[in-house]
Amino acid sequence: MTGPADTLSLARTLDRCTVLGPGVRAVVWVQGCPLRCKGCVAAETLPFEGGTPVAVPELAAHLAALTDVEGVTLSGGEPFAQAEALAALLDAVRERRPGFSAMAYSGFRHEALRRGTPAQQALLDRLDLLVDGPYVATRHAPLRWRGSANQRLLALTDRYAALVAQIADEDDTSAGVEVSMGADGSFSWAGVPPVPGFRETLEARLEARGFVPRTDRTQKGRRTP
Ligand code: SF4
Repeated sequence: MTGPADTLSLARTLDRCTVLGPGVRAVVWVQGCPLRCKGCVAAETLPFEGGTPVAVPELAAHLAALTDVEGVTLSGGEPFAQAEALAALLDAVRERRPGFSAMAYSGFRHEALRRGTPAQQALLDRLDLLVDGPYVATRHAPLRWRGSANQRLLALTDRYAALVAQIADEDDTSAGVEVSMGADGSFSWAGVPPVPGFRETLEARLEARGFVPRTDRTQKGRRTP
């Protein structure tokens, strides 16, 4: 279930995002997930084939140079299917940026990952935040950074522990989504949809107005790193 340590297979990256974790964060969506949650909002990331291979040192250098972001969120796809390379990625970024925070999504529960492979445990050890568990459509809920009520927001270090407690006590509401429109008429979006069917509705409405989904895995004219 884990790939080589020096290469990642990516679906997409985003340099700045404010709806997938605390503050302004980069996002890395890996390609491939062994689960098949009904209603998964990222169906194009599920096959393990077709991702963009990216060298870990190259991506680490790119992330470390994003001086206005406080960390990275790992999504997918299933990040723990490429745990060894993602752990190496975080180590390489933190050689340059020791305070760079890390959050990850997983379709597996935290307890299962703790009993997982050494690489999965190593990735867990490098995370500040984990959103765990599969998406369950029948339990869809507009929660902070999660799509269904079974998913937990877990502080694995002290970095965001107070924020997680505050969210649980006072403010566990959807962070919404971000939509970006390109000058060429393309669009992309990021975030956890607050309502079922959001993606289909958004894409249908934008496509009806002549916009086309961005599918070339590029961002701001550059190839995905
Ligand atoms: S774990 Fe996440 S990416 Fe995988 S099928 Fe479920 S919702 Fe989709």
